[in-house]
Amino acid sequence: MRGTIMNYPLTLPTILEHAGRLHGAQEIVSRMPDKSVHRYRFSEFYNRTKKLADGLIKAGLKSGDRVGTLCWNHYAHLEAYFGVPCSGGVLHTLNLRLHADELAYIAKHAGDRFLIVDDDLLPILEGFRDKVDFERIFVVRYNGDPVPADMEDYEDLLDGATSEFTYPEIDEFDACGMCYTSGTTGKPKGVAYSHRGVVLHTLAVSAPDAFGLSMRDCILPIVPMFHANAWGMPTTAVMAGAKTVFAGPHTDHESVLELLESEQVSMTSGVPTVWLPVVDAMKREADRWNLNPALKFVIGGSAAPEAMIRDFDTLGHQVIHAWGMTEMTPVGTTGIPKPSFDSMSRTEQFATLAKQGIPLPFVDIRVVGDDGPAPWDGETMGELQVKGPWIADSYYEPDDPIFSWTDDGWFRTGDVVTVDPEGYVKITDRTKDLIKSGGEWISSVDVENALMGHPDIKEAAVIAMPHERWVERPLACIVLKEGAVLSVESVREFLADKFAKWWLPDAVEFIEEIPRTSTGKFQKMALRERFKDYASE
Ligand code: AMP
Repeated sequence: MRGTIMNYPLTLPTILEHAGRLHGAQEIVSRMPDKSVHRYRFSEFYNRTKKLADGLIKAGLKSGDRVGTLCWNHYAHLEAYFGVPCSGGVLHTLNLRLHADELAYIAKHAGDRFLIVDDDLLPILEGFRDKVDFERIFVVRYNGDPVPADMEDYEDLLDGATSEFTYPEIDEFDACGMCYTSGTTGKPKGVAYSHRGVVLHTLAVSAPDAFGLSMRDCILPIVPMFHANAWGMPTTAVMAGAKTVFAGPHTDHESVLELLESEQVSMTSGVPTVWLPVVDAMKREADRWNLNPALKFVIGGSAAPEAMIRDFDTLGHQVIHAWGMTEMTPVGTTGIPKPSFDSMSRTEQFATLAKQGIPLPFVDIRVVGDDGPAPWDGETMGELQVKGPWIADSYYEPDDPIFSWTDDGWFRTGDVVTVDPEGYVKITDRTKDLIKSGGEWISSVDVENALMGHPDIKEAAVIAMPHERWVERPLACIVLKEGAVLSVESVREFLADKFAKWWLPDAVEFIEEIPRTSTGKFQKMALRERFKDYASE
């Protein structure tokens, strides 16, 4: 027997319409480059977003066409978050921290037809523009700079459009967004989010035992909007009708604290690197900041240190530790205390909060060790594998062979974990050969390959070393050819024109040999163990 319920598509226009009808008076606040504040209401956001959708269609956008964004977090980026998918297009957020060659590859591989770019990010665009065929480039005059002659003003696109726009027909499985993630070896890989996946993810993360967002909240996502849907916060805020605040480029601790205070933010989100100086400043100058007592910090992207969770707790603020991946839209687990928490000692409570959390509903997890599926005993380690309605089942037209899915359809996260009997996941290691520095990936393999192209270098292995501020930084372990002598500086200089500056190893160790596994592969675990206490300057 079939249910007697409508087949109603789960698409983003539904969220936009809901917000436009019910939450018109709510505010969206954006910090501008000069630190002044741009403010408007959801009613204006709604009208402008529909105009953007109409404008894009008038500009020739067809269903499924990709529109790139190279933008900070602000109101126009939020308009693109909804306007592009509501036009039937696919929003492709470009990570402005990447090297020009990587941006060129990603934009070209995705086939971005149009680009929306902030005027103050035009120098980044200049670095790769000639390698990509953007048909039209719309400039957000965020800094008030003039629009270059061969580009168009984003405002003109909206002025020439109407908000009396009728949405095209959208299938819930159609792509609404795209984001590329680092490949351990080879090229970045594109994830194409579906309307259905994003809508379900939005519902799931807003639930009380996830982020617990309501129309009474005021959210400030510090996590960049070019990272995996900014962890779902923009769509969640619009669906809930929550006041939404954007920091733009101002993510230093003073600026963040000013904004948390002035807008009385109740939920903010970002990687540990952002929060470290914030919590230090809050401890140092406890009386200076008059923050919302209900303010919660969602911390993810890298492990939230237990000491940070304790510090925020002492200051009266809850941390929600979240784990996820670009391939998962992105949230998979949240560190919400279960009722059993109440009977734990404080030590046990903080140890639990420092774990990555329990899976969201619909996120199915299993741990696979060397001997097959591992029990949830909090001790047996294995790779975390996941399934669910907002988890990717493939990459977009990959250039390299992909081994990320098991034959029975589970996505292999590359994170090594234990799961305790209560279902809390704890990440203990990772199998993927990547370094996460300040929330951004560095491919150790790419740096190693470049190093091994040096005439004096016999072998090189690049590993993550712990770093207080950036969580991880690259350490290059180098075996020199016989008789060769190299300085640390000359190694960095050799790499300088090949990678973004923050990819360059902070430290270089010249070693006798690189330990190997029985099959002859570099045994990076042994190197990580050897240099686990290595502290970079
Ligand atoms: P990305 O696709 O860039 O979001 O990176 C996803 C990866 O970041 C995960 O597979 C983990 O390795 C790491 N990661 C994300 N959140 C956490 C967390 N809370 N704790 C530890 N590692 C994390």
